Amino acid sequence: MKTGYLIDMDGVIYRENNLIPGAADFVWALHATGTPFLFLTNNSAPTAEDLAVRLKHLGIQGLSPRHFYTSAMNTADFLGETDPGCTVFVIGEGGLLTALHERKIASDGIHPRYVIVGEGVATMERLTKAHECLERGARLLATNPDNWCPVSSDKTRPGAGATTAFLEASSGRRAYYLGKPNGYMFHRARRKLAELSRSEPEQVVMIGDTMETDIRGATEAGMQSFLVLTGSTQIELVGDYGYQPTRILQSVADLVEEVKTGKPCDRLNRPAFVQNGKHGEKFGHRHQTDMLAFYKPRPRPAMTK
Ligand SMILES: [Mg+2]
Repeated sequence: MKTGYLIDMDGVIYRENNLIPGAADFVWALHATGTPFLFLTNNSAPTAEDLAVRLKHLGIQGLSPRHFYTSAMNTADFLGETDPGCTVFVIGEGGLLTALHERKIASDGIHPRYVIVGEGVATMERLTKAHECLERGARLLATNPDNWCPVSSDKTRPGAGATTAFLEASSGRRAYYLGKPNGYMFHRARRKLAELSRSEPEQVVMIGDTMETDIRGATEAGMQSFLVLTGSTQIELVGDYGYQPTRILQSVADLVEEVKTGKPCDRLNRPAFVQNGKHGEKFGHRHQTDMLAFYKPRPRPAMTK
């Protein structure tokens, strides 16, 4: 069966500025066998060109911008498809501005139809302007729901979800979050993967390290999902989730032989070692969408009066 792969980056291919062992071999095996693949990231700051350069410096050669799909591109696709000709006020970086520009979506600081929030520097001046646009009726969109993003093993930075939460609080409007785990991200990624390959893959597998985005989104989109333990998820916590990955792998290195030979690998699903707890406890919700449960009124059971 022809398989295509959607591959998360941080925690799957690299951590900080280090390539995860076996990641280069895995990407090489995909290339060598003509297996379709697409890197999928919630980081809306870089362009696809930036990401290809970044992976090249980390030691993965032969990638071009067409191998990447970011939450910024997903947001621009969403607007291009659902509201072509709309105008936007943007808080974000080059990756988001480029994606919007490519789809001919114009910037508008006076009466935009949407305020779009992505990763990156949000000054109080920009936030104030965005707030005013929302008060004048603009809709609030976020490229992704991540409240924070890892920078190193003991450091994070605020993400687009946190900036969006600021504007939700000040304006009283709820945002719509694109990027993983939104089904639109997976729908468009699957379409792009089919465009990249000569014939459409019969099955699509998402490989990721985060339950709430990678595994949840793939499950809801009807795809297989492989969780790798080289990133943010500790094996002991996997059982807490209502959705489960199709497979749990130590790392993408476990897939190299399988991609080369087409035969399922016997290194899969072996008991995972527990890491040293370095990525340990951090308070709060990792993603802005994880908080939705608190806002939803609980439906009354059907048969009670
Ligand atoms: Mg990740």
